Amino acid sequence: MQTKSLWLKDDDNSDKYILNKDLDLDILIIGGGITGLSTLYNLRNSNKKIALLESSTIGSGSTGHTTGKINYLQELIYQDIENKYNYQVAKKYYDSQKDAIKFITETIRNEKIKCDLEVVDSYIYTDKLEEVPKIKREKELLEKMGAKVLETTNNVDFIQSKYAIKVQDTYVFHPLKYLQVLKKICLKNGKMVYENSKVVRIEEKDNAFICYTEEYTIKCQKLIIASHYPFFLFPYVMPLKCTIEKSYIGSSLANAKNYTLITSSKPTTSVRYQKDSQEYLIYLTKSSRICDNLDEKENYGKLIKELNDLKLLPSYVWKNTDLLTIDKIPYIGYLNKKHNLLIGTGYNTWGMTNGSLAGLILSDLVLNKKNKYASLCDPLRINITDLGGILTNIYSNIKGFIKSKAGKNKKLYENVSFETKNGVSIGVYKENDKVYKVYNRCPHLGCSLIFNEEDKTWDCPCHASRFDKKGKCIKGPSQYDITYKDNM
Ligand SMILES: Cc1cc2nc3c(=O)[nH]c(=O)nc-3n(C[C@H](O)[C@H](O)[C@H](O)COP(=O)(O)OP(=O)(O)OC[C@H]3O[C@@H](n4cnc5c(N)ncnc54)[C@H](O)[C@@H]3O)c2cc1C
Repeated sequence: MQTKSLWLKDDDNSDKYILNKDLDLDILIIGGGITGLSTLYNLRNSNKKIALLESSTIGSGSTGHTTGKINYLQELIYQDIENKYNYQVAKKYYDSQKDAIKFITETIRNEKIKCDLEVVDSYIYTDKLEEVPKIKREKELLEKMGAKVLETTNNVDFIQSKYAIKVQDTYVFHPLKYLQVLKKICLKNGKMVYENSKVVRIEEKDNAFICYTEEYTIKCQKLIIASHYPFFLFPYVMPLKCTIEKSYIGSSLANAKNYTLITSSKPTTSVRYQKDSQEYLIYLTKSSRICDNLDEKENYGKLIKELNDLKLLPSYVWKNTDLLTIDKIPYIGYLNKKHNLLIGTGYNTWGMTNGSLAGLILSDLVLNKKNKYASLCDPLRINITDLGGILTNIYSNIKGFIKSKAGKNKKLYENVSFETKNGVSIGVYKENDKVYKVYNRCPHLGCSLIFNEEDKTWDCPCHASRFDKKGKCIKGPSQYDITYKDNM
């Protein structure tokens, strides 16, 4: 069993460029996930000077750790949006998801992208009687919006279900194979994609942005932050606008079937199949807020047990995180009045559609074109009813911070210990005869870190930054390493 995503086994090392000079651009995109690459793809024919910088490799972030469903049946999202706003807003979100699916599937067909695209039935199900009326309500809403929805009171395959609804026009694919081809098309059209090229600092100067990597400087007139967690953007105060959810995913060899499944309420269980050179069942479980369930060995253990109960042995296990917005609508668009700074994030675990939607909106806005979904996803929208959500997010942040400090020097594992030097906590991980030391403090907002025994990483329980055993930052929002200087 490997502790890595099934998709990343198909990483393609060709056409990789690392930034090796200063750049002067019209538009810079930071982040090579589905948001960044979809945006660049839509700008491929523009005569603007555009480049994308990715700190690691294409798709190595959240996109390379999804379950890869392309779906508009998203738990009970339409009634949640209708309850928060009204039917018209819920319908607009539905239309945006259908348009995003059309964009992805047409792109795959037009560009002849081999990314294991399959049309599948998708179910929302529940084994709790009290959930049934809510799913029935979602069915009514979906039908009013134009979807064809079927219902069943039978179990769905091996899943115990009291009630389920299904639609038949949804898809699954291999997200990394899709991104790799988008990258190649962009390169062919003269739009540079630089990997292993991390932006560590941004300054605004004379209506332009200066972005710094460790060695080079990029000047750009417009900046698109597609880095998942837009960490540079104080005072946008992302921790108040979003909470972070994590889940655990396993894939096991199994005969592929033509459907996907998801529970109507949290904690989420989600199932899909994947067919390439081998056939896999992909199973997601144990979703929770990032500040809860901090023992990763236990979390992975529960995932593996659930798979074993299904008589399956996982070949790959991994975890993923995503940002949840207060009103379940993503944040895509301008962040300032000068209209030169844009973001795309907050996809509520539906980033294949919403990252593609971001690609459509951001590429229009940055070329001063109108987009019919720009007002829906405006990241600066404010609503008085958001207050409850903001308070919940403040609570989650404080809870994560306190839990991180309470567990700061707690010895969860045999091979991990802690030292204090000049009042500073140092985490020590021993592997065979090697000792790795790190500063036990996340450079983002100062939370203490929890050692993840399964992945051999130091993980932040507040905003999901991750560091490898040597202290190298492998996932934001932190952009700095935590390697202890006297490391052995
Ligand atoms: C468990 C789980 C399952 C999911 N399954 C699905 C699913 O089935 N279908 C679906 O639609 N959605 C799913 N999602 C949601 C989806 O994974 C995300 O919403 C989506 O991948 C986000 O894409 P992104 O491009 O915004 O971010 P990312 O894919 O994370 O891309 C951001 C990139 O920016 C790079 N970066 C960060 N900082 C810097 C920097 N300083 N300089 C340069 N580069 C930087 C990162 O390395 C990263 O590659 C799931 C989420 C979770 C948590």
